[in-house]
Amino acid sequence: MQNITALAKRRGFIYPGSEIYGGLANTYDYGPVGAELLRNIRNLWWEVFVQRRDDIVGLEASIISHQEIWKASGHTSGFADAQVDCKNCKLRMRADHLIEESLDDKNVEGLTTDELDDIISENKIKCPNCGKSDWTKVRKFNLLFPVNLGIIEGDQSLAYLRGETAQGMFVNFKNILESTRVKLPFGIAQLGKSFRNEITPGNSVFRTLEFEQGEIEYFFDPNESNWEELFEAWKKSIWSFITEKIGINKDNLRWREHGEKERSFYSKKTEDLEYNFPFGFKELWGLAYRTDYDLSQHEKGSGKELKIINSQTNEKKLPHVIEPAVGINRIFLMVLCDAYREEENRVYLQINPKLAPFKAAVFPLLSNKPELVDKATKIYKDLRSDLMVAFDDRGNIGKRYLYQDEIGTPFCITVDFDTLQNDSVTVRDRDTMKQERVKISELKKFLIERI
Ligand code: ATP
Repeated sequence: MQNITALAKRRGFIYPGSEIYGGLANTYDYGPVGAELLRNIRNLWWEVFVQRRDDIVGLEASIISHQEIWKASGHTSGFADAQVDCKNCKLRMRADHLIEESLDDKNVEGLTTDELDDIISENKIKCPNCGKSDWTKVRKFNLLFPVNLGIIEGDQSLAYLRGETAQGMFVNFKNILESTRVKLPFGIAQLGKSFRNEITPGNSVFRTLEFEQGEIEYFFDPNESNWEELFEAWKKSIWSFITEKIGINKDNLRWREHGEKERSFYSKKTEDLEYNFPFGFKELWGLAYRTDYDLSQHEKGSGKELKIINSQTNEKKLPHVIEPAVGINRIFLMVLCDAYREEENRVYLQINPKLAPFKAAVFPLLSNKPELVDKATKIYKDLRSDLMVAFDDRGNIGKRYLYQDEIGTPFCITVDFDTLQNDSVTVRDRDTMKQERVKISELKKFLIERI
């Protein structure tokens, strides 16, 4: 993991947040190539789950949201992690993480704070920082970020930064029904930032205070659609997105079903797609059948009717929902981990060309030969009008290759003296390092066919 995070910083994928002021824990900034990769992942997700489907519509709801939304959803009371502090060195940790990291194969999902306390004291679990075993009692703390709105006085001024994008779909359910032509079954999808006041053990952007989610609420009538079939269909869509579109190695992925204690009381079935990160198999994408719990909570909370009339039976009912929810930043980290390759003389990222920040880089063989530089600049400008392409004339060719390898650029194009004679260039493949001559007139087509 250290080598991957070092590369991510060195080459401008991820920087620590607020770094010149000493950093702000669990926040990160995405540099030039990181911003491209993140955007490519986001665009692919939106394209596959919204633009290419006729049963899903998009939404961009507000991040700052009414306190009543989070009361109705259960987040103000139940959205909490159990934390524990080391009395000796003051290290603060999530109690479940402390136990899971200290005891092999201990699943503590769904246990009460007292049960967690008992496990920590019975096993005399040591602090990973100072080695002492002197912990405070386990206590719960809420993950929502409150904000105070300046224009309103008193309690009324309290709002929250959203802790998940999903509530936006439920509170806009009626708006969408009334303003579009959707019919059950249909989904509402949203991509956007969520905020959680988490304690995290590091691991780069795996768990941060501010992160981007891609969530879909897929509404259906349980009398007309079989939820088990829908659930299986969603598992297939998620799997094919990750393995075929993003191009992740299947051996590093697994589905894990939540047990009775771990699953929320309203969910009939929850499964996580997990990726084998360098720090172990961890949740990437959650898939949950949530029944009609969310809409019924918002009906109660808002006093507004959210039921749909079935045109055949004239019956009024709340639809049920299946929710696929993924973290875009976790996909980003998975892509870096899955693509990272170390060879004797080089490090490279074998990123799917579709997602790579740059599709190609153009080099003049020598930077002090104007005829080569002019020709390379012309080729670069022509490609750049359609593709994300880099230009580099610094240092020797070997160094330029190494740089592009580390940011995952699939093709490097060199303009040499032969180019001036026969209008062809050398194209070097990132993965095989093989070079081939390609006519300039064919170059754009050559690249487009391979990305
Ligand atoms: P975890 O158990 O890892 O805390 P969760 O079950 O609370 O996650 P959900 O509420 O289901 O997560 O959120 C859906 C997705 O959002 C997760 O699968 C994950 O990819 C992403 N996610 C959740 N919390 C964070 C975070 N703090 N930083 C980055 N991504 C996150």
